[in-house]
Amino acid sequence: MVSIAENLDRVRERIAHAAAKSGRSTNDVELVVITKTHPVEKVREAIDAGQTLFGESRVQEARAKIPELPSNVRWHFVGHLQKNKVRHALPLFEMIHSVDSLALAQDMNRIAQEEGLHPRLLLEVNVAGEWSKFGFAPDKLREQMEALLALPRLSILGLMTIPPLAEEAEASREYFVQLREVRDHLQTEFRVDLAHLSMGMTQDFPIAVEEGATLVRVGTAIFGERSKR
Ligand SMILES: *Cc1c(COP(=O)(O)O)cnc(C)c1O
Repeated sequence: MVSIAENLDRVRERIAHAAAKSGRSTNDVELVVITKTHPVEKVREAIDAGQTLFGESRVQEARAKIPELPSNVRWHFVGHLQKNKVRHALPLFEMIHSVDSLALAQDMNRIAQEEGLHPRLLLEVNVAGEWSKFGFAPDKLREQMEALLALPRLSILGLMTIPPLAEEAEASREYFVQLREVRDHLQTEFRVDLAHLSMGMTQDFPIAVEEGATLVRVGTAIFGERSKR
């Protein structure tokens, strides 16, 4: 069996290759290793292989796992965040990739105020329409951007998307391009810096890097298939 360390090397190589191909620096792309469903022993192997940034998509699971692991590793939250989990999530994660509604952002702002925190986050955009039940439709995001930017506790650092499942990795490219374009328009219209694009998973991360991803979220290519839960 191929080791987690070898898988990590391979993924990092593919990121570097995709970056070079599109004239980008590898340093501008960070690998977020997604640990959901995988036990802490496997996460430790990845840490031993030099990985320091991980992602979880469920607060419950993260609350059990994170305290078991060295405190110098960094965690990002990438899943749908339920409002009743915000208070638990905020202190655990250095970035929330998946803020998908104004109501959630308002709750985060209020709780961050109460807890004395300054959350860093990305806005999840549903660029593919019907496909996902989560995320801002691009038009809705433009409508609500002013209200989002007015929330004083929140640092909005960029956008995230999950494209529709497809057989071919290439099918994701148009959604990655769309996310970048939505970002570019918002930056111009609202004079904000949205430096981060979180896009690309095992299936399609090299394409995401070619299209400007700064954060790729990869699980299966590193830990193998997840068992069904
Ligand atoms: C599980 C998950 C990933 C990783 O998916 P893989 O296909 O295993 O690489 C990335 N992003 C989100 C939001 C996820 O939930």
